[in-house]
Amino acid sequence: MQENIIEIFSSVQGEGKYVGYRQVFVRFEGCNLACRYCDTENAVNMHDYCRVESAAGSRQFLKVGNPFTPEAAARQINALLQELPHQAVSFTGGEPLLHADFLAELIPRLSPAACFLETNGTLTNALKQVLPLISIISMDIKLPSVTGRPLWEEHRRFLQAARSRDTYVKIVVAADTLLSELEQAYAIVAGADKNLPVILQPVTPFGGCEAPTAGQMLAAQQAALLQLSDVRVIPQTHVLMGQL
Ligand code: SF4
Repeated sequence: MQENIIEIFSSVQGEGKYVGYRQVFVRFEGCNLACRYCDTENAVNMHDYCRVESAAGSRQFLKVGNPFTPEAAARQINALLQELPHQAVSFTGGEPLLHADFLAELIPRLSPAACFLETNGTLTNALKQVLPLISIISMDIKLPSVTGRPLWEEHRRFLQAARSRDTYVKIVVAADTLLSELEQAYAIVAGADKNLPVILQPVTPFGGCEAPTAGQMLAAQQAALLQLSDVRVIPQTHVLMGQL
């Protein structure tokens, strides 16, 4: 089994509940959605090589030919893990659950580390395939104004499966996000567990998507707090810090 990987590097987690922790990031190709504000270059079969950081935090990258076997990917990840303690290995993309078969082969080959899944929260069958191997799930709820269609049922099913892990929900809020769609998202989380952490992330402007005002973020959080107990507003801090 072989897969293309875009990059492997060590950096600071910039988003969500574990913001600030040091992690190894593994970015996969491809996504099953097309969000308006997507800033990740994740086209499929366009990466002849993977950018692999030569030493953790050095920002010196080697070009290592794609595709990778699980054994070869594990060697590169383990080399970074062995340099310094990392809180977790973060599988990101794109949508990493498009590569569930590969993850199932890769993760058992990694040095002991928590495995952190950054996912758009729609591929429940793929999640179930790797769930026992994953410690932390950062699950996005994607709003209809972002994806062009409602994904409520997909998110509801996913959250039911994901909540057995250390899971939190992230919702990106833009200037034109409707309070009504946020309230639907909150209701889905509350239906699963009103104590699940929810992170409201003001969008980093991209692709014509504009940032919400400070007042909009307060209103978004206020509406969430009517249904949920743990609601935080956290921007993409890696962008503020100039981290990858
Ligand atoms: S789910 Fe993530 S990677 Fe996929 S299109 Fe949306 S923002 Fe981009």
